[in-house]
This record gives sequence, structure tokens and C-alpha cells, in this order.
Amino acid sequence: MSNKAFIDKSRIDHLYRPVGVRVGDFAEVEADPTREQLREQAERCMNCGIPFCLGCGCPLYNAIPDMNAAVARGDWREAWAVLSATSDLPEFPARICPALCEGSCTASLPSEAVMIRQIEKAVVEKAFAMGLVKPVVPKAENGLKASVVGSGPGGLAAAIALRRRGYAVTVYERAAQPGGLLRYGIPFFKLDKRIIDRRIEILRESGIGFVCGVEVGRDLAGEELARRSDVVAVAIGTPAARDLAIPGRDLAGIHLALEFLGGQNQALGGEIPGPPISAKSRRVLVIGGGDTGSDCVGTSNRHGAESVTQIEIMPKPSAARADATPWPDWPAQMRTSSSHEEGCLRRWSLNSLRFLGEDGRVSGVEVCQVAWELSPAGRPLKFTPVEGTREVISCDLVLLALGFVKQDRATVLGKLGIPDSPTVVLVGDAALGPSLVVRALAQAKEAVGKMA
Ligand SMILES: Cc1cc2nc3c(=O)[nH]c(=O)nc-3n(C[C@H](O)[C@H](O)[C@H](O)COP(=O)(O)OP(=O)(O)OC[C@H]3O[C@@H](n4cnc5c(N)ncnc54)[C@H](O)[C@@H]3O)c2cc1C
Repeated sequence: MSNKAFIDKSRIDHLYRPVGVRVGDFAEVEADPTREQLREQAERCMNCGIPFCLGCGCPLYNAIPDMNAAVARGDWREAWAVLSATSDLPEFPARICPALCEGSCTASLPSEAVMIRQIEKAVVEKAFAMGLVKPVVPKAENGLKASVVGSGPGGLAAAIALRRRGYAVTVYERAAQPGGLLRYGIPFFKLDKRIIDRRIEILRESGIGFVCGVEVGRDLAGEELARRSDVVAVAIGTPAARDLAIPGRDLAGIHLALEFLGGQNQALGGEIPGPPISAKSRRVLVIGGGDTGSDCVGTSNRHGAESVTQIEIMPKPSAARADATPWPDWPAQMRTSSSHEEGCLRRWSLNSLRFLGEDGRVSGVEVCQVAWELSPAGRPLKFTPVEGTREVISCDLVLLALGFVKQDRATVLGKLGIPDSPTVVLVGDAALGPSLVVRALAQAKEAVGKMA
């Protein structure tokens, strides 16, 4: 592509269904661009000599300019060939990736980044509609057995990579259905679970077996699993959520974010009759300003919360790219998710000191403002409380979205009872710590590729 569309055509930033409509359901919030919009947006890809989107942005090294060029020509078959050459499960990042590629898009220097993620989604959906998405075919069976523990994106990517190398692959999953956080964490309004089912079907056709409802280390001894496998990929994610050990934590109405989000997804998936935690008519306080917190905001609004407030200990990000993250790094800057647009008071630089209660249920959180010491580039280093800023935020449902803790290899394997050996590989968040779907996919593929 050599045209100059990035100069005279603007980026379409987000295409969401109207707020008033989408808060009434759990269907995906995103609306699809028209064919014409897709062509125009793909033409904005500037055919730059050094495409930083794939060198610095996309962990999978997707050949984004080639994909965009094919979409601009209307050649969906070629676009899928390009995308699927590097991305085994593109339907997931195409929906929920923060689009690291767009953060390092060259067009964002003179203009605005290309709308890469939604173009990728259109390519994936077109490929499914055209019957181009096929089961994995190994070059040759190698006669060896591989076990994968955990069926989140990391586990699925490892299973594909192992199957491609000719292993007979079985995935063990403690939950009732495969998918990990794709199914039991990320809300339906970001990712419809039929997208996971569609892929699992193809993986089964590829000869990958799924054994759900089995927790390795409890229902199946790790040692036994290792004995019956030639290689083991451990993809258990980061199950340990960070808690908030302040006075009053044992009051009713204070929950970890995943208890809230997971229960909602189980209810929508028909596994349980209804969500075990309801935000209906509640004054919700979400503690933690990241993506998980934002998912709690969106879910609370769909429940019919009276009000939703989200607080964060870190300082308010700047509206523009911060100096600490120059292009082509992923920009630290203020982000407003579709959930925030649906209604939420957001506050920053607040530390939570204690929970207050009435009749055993939480009624508020005492907080105070903190002042941050910043590095010369503007990176927050450490905070101190600001005198005289204590206040109580009233609430009757608190959702703790404080992130997850990375465990080291010895702890992970020790818990599962899997003896350490060169034939055991950690993949996805279990290896990286809490991360992103696209990073879990890339790491899993690479780690399996490096196995002897
Ligand atoms: C609420 C939330 C929202 C998120 N939103 C986004 C987003 O929008 N975009 C994005 O890119 N990333 C997002 N992430 C991060 C993303 O979900 C993770 O990075 C990704 O799922 C990691 O994949 P994984 O396969 O390594 O682990 P997981 O998805 O955590 O899967 C681990 C699996 O292992 C299973 N397991 C654990 N122990 C055992 C055992 N002993 N035996 C058998 N099975 C076991 C678990 O049940 C689970 O199914 C979000 C995370 C959360 C919590």
C-alpha cells in the first residue's frame, strides 16, 4: 500500500452499541464496522518501511501491514492466510486485546494509529464464515503424549503447538468448561462465550482431548500425570488474587473481583441459576483501577447498581502519552473503557485504610489521598499520605480488583505435585505473571517451540 489515506482519512476509534441499549444486556458491546469503513481504515496503514506494530507492538509478530493491504484489496482469503500464519487463536485478541500494535503504529506519529484490532476481528469472522479455519494437522504423529494443565488461552496455545509437533495432547481443566479467564473472568459483554465453544470444537477435531472438572494436584496427582506424559505444559494462570488486609475485611459485602465476575459468567453460561453476588440497587465501590476493575464496573451497571465508584491508589494518568513511555512503547495514558462510558465515578491517588460496617455489612471505606514521588520521566515511585484528607466513601458492595500474584516455578509445580524436569514447561500467566491474552498466547507458543 502506498496511498496517503492516513493523512486525509481519520481513524474510527471505537464502534460501540449505544450506552442506553448495551447496559440492558450482556451481549458484546462492540458494533462491527461496515465493509466500506474497514477498507478505508485498512488503507490508513501507511506501508511504512519499518512496521513497528509487529516489531515492537504485537507479541505474536502478526504481519499487520500485509493483512491490512489484503483487507484494503478485499482479499479476505489472503488476509486470513497472513494472520493465521502467526496467530493460532486470533478471535480472542481480536476482541479483547488492548492492541499493543496500535500503541506502536507508525501512523500515530504524524496522525492517529490504524484501527488494527477491529480489522483483525473482521478478518477472523470472515475466515470462519468462509470455512477457512481448519483443525490443526501435525506434520507427522510422533507417538508421544503431552498433557496440558489448564485450558485458558495459554493452555490452548500450548495444546495447539504440541499437537502441531505430533503429540497426542490432553488438556486437564479443573473448571466445568474450558477457556480459563476467557470463560470465567472476562465478561460476556467483551467476549461472547460461543466464540470459545467454536474454537474448542475445532481443537477437538484436531485430536486434542479435554478433561474438565479435574484439578491436578487434588483429583489427579501431579506425579501420576507426569508419569503418563512425555511432556507437560503447566498453564494454570495466576490463581492467587491480591487481597486487602485492612480492618473490617471480614464484613459482608466485600468480595474479590473474580468471585463477582466468575459467578456472573457461570450464571450466563447456565452453570448456576443466577449470579451469587448481585450489585442491584447497591452503591458499589470498586477498589483497583485496571481492566478487572473496569469489568466490575460494566457488570455492576448491568445489574442495576444505584451508583458505581472506582478508586485507584496510582495517580491519574495524563490525557496524552506520558514521557515515561515514548513511542513505540505502549503508552501510559488515561484510558476510558466502554464500561466507564456506561457510568462510573473514577478517582485516583486514594489509599484504603479501613472498612466500616453496619449490622455486619460494609457501609463505607475510609480512604485518604496520597502524594506520589515521580521519577524524572514521570513514573510513579512511592507515595506518602496527605495529612487531613481522610474521608469515608459510602458503599454497600465492595469489589477488590487489585491484581494477581505471580508464583515462582517451584511453588507452582510444588502445589500441583509435578516433579520438576526439562520436560515440564510453564506457559501463559503461570510463567509471565498476570498479563494479557496476547502475551499468554505468544509465550506459550514460544515456550513449547523451545522444548527439546
Ligand atoms: C477480569 C479479567 C479481565 C481481563 N481482561 C483482559 C482483556 O480484556 N484483555 C486481555 O488481553 N487480557 C485480559 N485479562 C488477562 C487474561 O485473561 C490473562 O492474561 C489470560 O487469561 C492468561 O491465560 P492463561 O491461560 O495463562 O491463564 P488463565 O486464563 O488464568 O487459565 C488458567 C486455567 O488453569 C486452570 N487451572 C488452575 N489450576 C488448575 C489445576 N490444578 N488443575 C487443572 N486446571 C487448573 C484454571 O481453572 C484456568 O482455567 C483479564 C483478566 C481478568 C482476571
